Amino acid sequence: MSTEKSVGGLKCSEVLERLSDYLDAELAAEERVKVEAHLAGCDACTRFGGEFGAVVTALRARLGRNDDAPPGP
Ligand SMILES: [Zn+2]
Repeated sequence: MSTEKSVGGLKCSEVLERLSDYLDAELAAEERVKVEAHLAGCDACTRFGGEFGAVVTALRARLGRNDDAPPGP
């Protein structure tokens, strides 16, 4: 299988490696930018499925918004 794409300077597997640090806000700013650029431009990540796919989908939805309104009840 070769569904990996290089977007924003990172491959899907490299985004995967950084995702937990990203979610923990432990990633350097320049790395965060790359991860966000990848997620914004790559739809292959969401196809890894399972938990990772759900996280990516949620992140992409959040990145598409400018307001930080918390989700309502
Ligand atoms: Zn990807």
